[in-house]
Amino acid sequence: MLTAELLSVGSELLVGETVDTNAGQLARSLTDSGVDVRRITAVPDELTVVTEAFAAAVASCDLVVSTGGLGPTPDDLTREAIAALCGETPAVDAGLEGWLRDLWRRREMPFPEVNLKQAWLIPSASPLANPNGTAPGWFVERGDGRVVVALPGPPREMRPMWSQEVVPRLRSRLGRPTVATTLRLTGIGESMVADRLGSLLRRDANPLVATYARAEAVDIRISAVDQDGRLASELVAEAEAAVLAELGEHVWARGAHSWGDALGSELERLGWTLSVVEIGTGIAVGRLLGDRAWLRLDESLHPQAPAAIEHDDRDGLIAYARRAREVGGSDVGLAVRARPRRGDTAVSIAISSQHGDHRERRLVFLDGELGRSRSAIAAADVLLRRLRSIGGPATEPDPVHTDRDQPTETPAGDEATLEVRR
Ligand code: AMP
Ligand code: MG
Repeated sequence: MLTAELLSVGSELLVGETVDTNAGQLARSLTDSGVDVRRITAVPDELTVVTEAFAAAVASCDLVVSTGGLGPTPDDLTREAIAALCGETPAVDAGLEGWLRDLWRRREMPFPEVNLKQAWLIPSASPLANPNGTAPGWFVERGDGRVVVALPGPPREMRPMWSQEVVPRLRSRLGRPTVATTLRLTGIGESMVADRLGSLLRRDANPLVATYARAEAVDIRISAVDQDGRLASELVAEAEAAVLAELGEHVWARGAHSWGDALGSELERLGWTLSVVEIGTGIAVGRLLGDRAWLRLDESLHPQAPAAIEHDDRDGLIAYARRAREVGGSDVGLAVRARPRRGDTAVSIAISSQHGDHRERRLVFLDGELGRSRSAIAAADVLLRRLRSIGGPATEPDPVHTDRDQPTETPAGDEATLEVRR
């Protein structure tokens, strides 16, 4: 089973009321299982459109997975569409009916007859249990060997049904599992990454190397499946070594690690805590790092605050880093000042620890909110490099691992951190 198409059924998706998270999660799971997802389609609650979408999908792919349209109301039409596709007539299944009626009997409530539709089956369909709602799914095996799976729309019902009911049924038929690793880069834009990778950036190959510009990093995802007697993990490791040789200086983490995770593991290695003072960043550093046990102090000053104006110079910022360290009782103090400069943002970063003081300036792309959040990333980068340069056992994660169960939440977009070092 090598190709799949995903159908998201529901008019709410087409008017923007609901964001389609189901298809993305299924795509990720299928891709990790070695299935090539060829298309994702969203369709309104209209019988002919839904039926045509199933027919088109089943004509071109081994597996079709739909979500939505399994509710009890007349606008939930996925069952009707699959029945039409298979040329079969739905009938109430006694077992499902009993289970369904019992859900209401348990609460001593009358059974709403509209819900009876959720007990329907066609001869080609077997039911998928739903312990989290009233809509069983359908697992349809067609004469031509193709499989159609219908899952409910609510993600908390869809996800467990997929992993507990569908994946085990499909396991023996799925493709070769994918091994993947993600390198997270900063201080370089996506186009420059593409330029430097050149022919390594193979989108249609095994191993596959792809870039994703996200808010906190440019990610390079390297993935492979076993091929010609070579293990996927070997193929990934080889490609990773080549990528690191070209761009290793920009890599700050692997997998789904955030800036908070990366700094956290360095601080943990040193047994240190951190205190931060921010000026003009809108608490961007605090928001980037989140609530962390090792973050002892996160103070924010408005750039017009008297204290910010009074120490508005080079030594002032170092004094803030020292003061943060003292006030927070921390091992390292970080002071960050961001100010707009001709459409971009100038960032000054000062770090104070027992190993001395350090100060660095960077100019990050754009001003306003985007410039401020990139200022926080620049500060985290300077701090991480500084911490990593301090001796002790290294905390580099394993060179190759699978990150298949940790999708990055940040939506991909044109978020490249175009930084100019000064
Ligand atoms: P349904 O199975 O069509 O009754 O779906 C019920 C609810 O599930 C919808 O009102 C949405 O809140 C949610 N839902 C449906 N489709 C999706 C989807 N593709 N992604 C995320 N949530 C969804
Ligand atoms: Mg619906």
